[in-house]
Amino acid sequence: MEKITDILNYTLYDGITLAHVIGLIVLIMIVNYVWKKLSGKERPNIYEKIRCLKCGWVGEVSKYHRVCRKCGSNNVQKSPG
Ligand SMILES: [Zn+2]
Repeated sequence: MEKITDILNYTLYDGITLAHVIGLIVLIMIVNYVWKKLSGKERPNIYEKIRCLKCGWVGEVSKYHRVCRKCGSNNVQKSPG
């Protein structure tokens, strides 16, 4: 059985060893991971400010569930700002 260092030093092509190839793959994986992390920051804003027409509560709620958090009424209006 070959030692891991012997396998890593195995020359595939003029001066290129298996260690180089593995290193490159790891580098690509890291870059890919970082890229995904950075691009994942821009999540869509699903919240919006609303004003309850029943009790006057103003606050942020989900766009898909426009219900007053204070009184539970769905009689709400989109609030500017
Ligand atoms: Zn309310």
